Amino acid sequence: MKHIGIIGGTFDPIHFGHLRIAQIALEEHNLDEIVFIPSGNPPHKLDKEITDGKHRLEMVQLAVKDNPNFIVSDYEIYQSKVTYTIDTIKEMEACYEEGTKFYFIIGADAFLEMDSWRNLEYFFKMVDLIVLSRSYYKTSKVEDKIKEYSKQFDCNIQTVYAKTLNVSATVIRKLVGWNKSIKYLVPDEVEEYIKKYKLYHKEDSE
Ligand code: ATP
Repeated sequence: MKHIGIIGGTFDPIHFGHLRIAQIALEEHNLDEIVFIPSGNPPHKLDKEITDGKHRLEMVQLAVKDNPNFIVSDYEIYQSKVTYTIDTIKEMEACYEEGTKFYFIIGADAFLEMDSWRNLEYFFKMVDLIVLSRSYYKTSKVEDKIKEYSKQFDCNIQTVYAKTLNVSATVIRKLVGWNKSIKYLVPDEVEEYIKKYKLYHKEDSE
């Protein structure tokens, strides 16, 4: 039986924080591969300006190209409608052989906002959840939420409080906007891509 990790995100841009949580989940849970799924039009970020999906997808592809355990799905990027994680998971299930087990990898910040997700009951039936710490989010908040979900749903939520990296896409966009280096925060190829297409320059940044 295959064990597949899924990590969704806007990846605007992808950074070492994302790659690190994927690697930690891969090792801790003996997963066969991790699928990175850049979001198309995520419902929780509709009010925010997000970089064109083509750029975000290409940066993810560049970031994972040397790792045979990391693959990229363009499924959400090419959806014209708002995309819900539950529908993406159903699509993933259809792509893999029967009996494949799926794990959804998520940072503590996004985990604590899952109440607004569509059809959580069904989501928890389809995947196990792996929650990774994020420096400024308290472990106790995550534990309380896990207790709450465990009462509400038939779910399997595991935590990995390993050292994750204190980096966010927001900070990276800001640094680029301020003309500061983002070296050691993103893979070199991603840094070059951002320069080449002049992404996140002052007029584009928050
Ligand atoms: P932004 O700053 O634009 O909100 P982000 O850095 O949080 O972006 P996303 O693409 O929104 O990146 O995140 C995708 C997933 O990766 C989410 O589950 C998020 O919690 C997780 N994640 C991102 N960065 C980290 C990090 N440094 N440590 C742990 N989890 C992270």
